[in-house]
Amino acid sequence: MKPIGDVLKNLNIQITRTSNGSPEETPEWRCPICQDTGFYILEVPVGHPQFGRLQKCNCRKVQDEARKAGDLRSLSNLNLMAHLTFENFDETVPGVEDAYEAARAFARDPDGWLLLRGPIGSGKTHLAVATALEMIERFDSPVLFMVVPDLLDHLRAAFDPSKSIDYDERFEQVKTANILVLDDLGTENATPWAREKLFQIFNYRYNERLPIIVTTNVDLRPGNGRSQASGAIDERIRSRLLDERTTYAELDAEDYRTRKRPPQLKQLRR
Ligand SMILES: [Zn+2]
Repeated sequence: MKPIGDVLKNLNIQITRTSNGSPEETPEWRCPICQDTGFYILEVPVGHPQFGRLQKCNCRKVQDEARKAGDLRSLSNLNLMAHLTFENFDETVPGVEDAYEAARAFARDPDGWLLLRGPIGSGKTHLAVATALEMIERFDSPVLFMVVPDLLDHLRAAFDPSKSIDYDERFEQVKTANILVLDDLGTENATPWAREKLFQIFNYRYNERLPIIVTTNVDLRPGNGRSQASGAIDERIRSRLLDERTTYAELDAEDYRTRKRPPQLKQLRR
């Protein structure tokens, strides 16, 4: 293959370099394949499908991917939570292992919805974020992370009849996100308006078979002794959440954040 620098030189085209001088003065390339231009041309005979075509160099591909992953994380509202990975989750805490395994399986093969149920501080948000982060990597797809009460505040704030476009756009964004994480369902202030908005999101995604990862501390299972608490969740949402396509994972741990891990274990997991 031929670095694009050489090709352009032969064509008598000036190469603009942002850093240091002309190609002749800087023979030490960080990438000798493309001579830091990011592209090269394969030496193939005339008539070959790749003849004269710019090839993206691996060094550029690596840069592009790093940038894309960063963009996706910030689009996802996940930049501040990028440390909440599976690797940093302590699955040895009693009561969380099943949920941990379910979340890992879902990240590999997101079929239906994932519902993570557990008390405050049980690590359900950590697992939801870890699942989302792995899906970003695996599927090269943006994930939208929203805390449910915040989501409804956003929608309410954007809901101004004179600025209906902002609202529609935001609502569309949440409804149609490739992968949606809804954190803390059941803690929202459930006005009729909020219930309707939430239901529309769930219903759309149910019909379109778009994945959702939900965390809640409300016990949704029918016939459960604590089921009166599920009054906090719209019955129509509850029935879709309890569909057979949902993976229901329960975290029974005590407050996960207050637990101390042995230091040697912590180091191993870094
Ligand atoms: Zn290169």
